Amino acid sequence: MSGKIVIIGGGISGCATAYELARNGIAVTLLERGDLHSMASGWTLAGVRQSGRHPAELPLAAAAVARWSDLNDELEADTEYRRHGNLRMALTESDVPKIKEVVEETKAAGIEITYLDSIADIHAIAPALTSDIAGASFCPSDGHANPAKSVQAFANAAIRQGAYIRTGVEVLRIVTEGERVTGVETADGVVGADVVVVAAGIYSPLLLKPLGYDLPLDIRHVPAIQTVPAPPMLDQVLGVAAGTFAGRQQVDGRFRLTAGSSPWNAGDRHDPFNVQPTLAQVQETLAFSIRAIPALEKLRLAQVWGGLLDQTPDALPVLQRPSGLEGLVIGAGFSGHGFCLGPITGQILADLAVHGSTELPIDPFRIERFATRTGNPEALTLHG
Ligand SMILES: Cc1cc2nc3c(=O)[nH]c(=O)nc-3n(C[C@H](O)[C@H](O)[C@H](O)COP(=O)(O)OP(=O)(O)OC[C@H]3O[C@@H](n4cnc5c(N)ncnc54)[C@H](O)[C@@H]3O)c2cc1C
Repeated sequence: MSGKIVIIGGGISGCATAYELARNGIAVTLLERGDLHSMASGWTLAGVRQSGRHPAELPLAAAAVARWSDLNDELEADTEYRRHGNLRMALTESDVPKIKEVVEETKAAGIEITYLDSIADIHAIAPALTSDIAGASFCPSDGHANPAKSVQAFANAAIRQGAYIRTGVEVLRIVTEGERVTGVETADGVVGADVVVVAAGIYSPLLLKPLGYDLPLDIRHVPAIQTVPAPPMLDQVLGVAAGTFAGRQQVDGRFRLTAGSSPWNAGDRHDPFNVQPTLAQVQETLAFSIRAIPALEKLRLAQVWGGLLDQTPDALPVLQRPSGLEGLVIGAGFSGHGFCLGPITGQILADLAVHGSTELPIDPFRIERFATRTGNPEALTLHG
């Protein structure tokens, strides 16, 4: 059993962890440098998806999906979670084998998924979709949620249970004494802790490096657009074989759409301006979106933004309490698909913080694997 716990990061991973700890009566402080959900957990498409996951991540995604269905009652808030499925389109015949592979892999994990090769079958589910596709996979238990409302729901529930959440406080470094963590340093001084949970998204490597842990991230920049509210047209989350487009219609009627990604070369720090997409990126996203749902052509644009992704070499996260330094817990590197996992990430990081271990299968997610990894980095598979 641990004493005081400090969490760095107020995205879905940090806020869900704060909630899990607080509801178990553990003293926890969460420090967030900006606002809650001001980075990936706000920029996200917020698909809640099992289909197309790496086999190592599938048990966590399935456990997360099981949690999402009861989350509103549990957190006493509306996360706008909807479970209407994920449609991954084969845009051309050459995409069909990849989509069928996703179907086989997902089925092998015991998750219901079908391949639809007739446009009539696809339109029976999603009438607004283009007829100009070769087929699509359909996983009915996938869905989506409202990212800001979900993070806030975790944070509010955590606060009701006694968690202390502070925004506008940057952790400058993790403080250690000998072989153990003793707290975190902020501009206002040191906050003491027996356990520090690093859930700091793309900034996690900056906090871990001085402790001797190398988390290799390829930071990717992804453009996103949002339309004005439209009548209900699409229940599912859309994706494509190569992960180069994803979109959905929010509960409030707005479409949230994203396409493509590029390396992030703007230095260590982001600001609201250098994260905005270029006109060319917006143009590509619009073209993909209208190609997928022709009726979008008539909709007005409400917002554009860019998001940064913490892509690891194998596109899998680090979830670990490393043995080398007592009191350190890592939850980072979610590689573009950590929103869905949020409720389970919270459970895992809280287990690691309190007990040092968890019953959930996290062996594949150790940081040491990167030191011995060979081969090419995995491609970004951003598809809801
Ligand atoms: C465009 C886009 C689309 C996506 N689509 C999906 C999707 O459909 N489905 C899905 O599951 N996932 C998706 N993702 C990925 C998902 O959003 C992320 O994996 C997830 O939100 C990560 O949450 P997090 O809490 O770990 O990190 P973040 O949300 O990035 O939170 C980290 C927080 O730590 C804070 N922080 C950093 N350093 C410090 C410090 N030194 N001191 C204090 N605070 C600090 C940051 O300000 C930030 O708020 C998408 C991401 C993007 C960008």
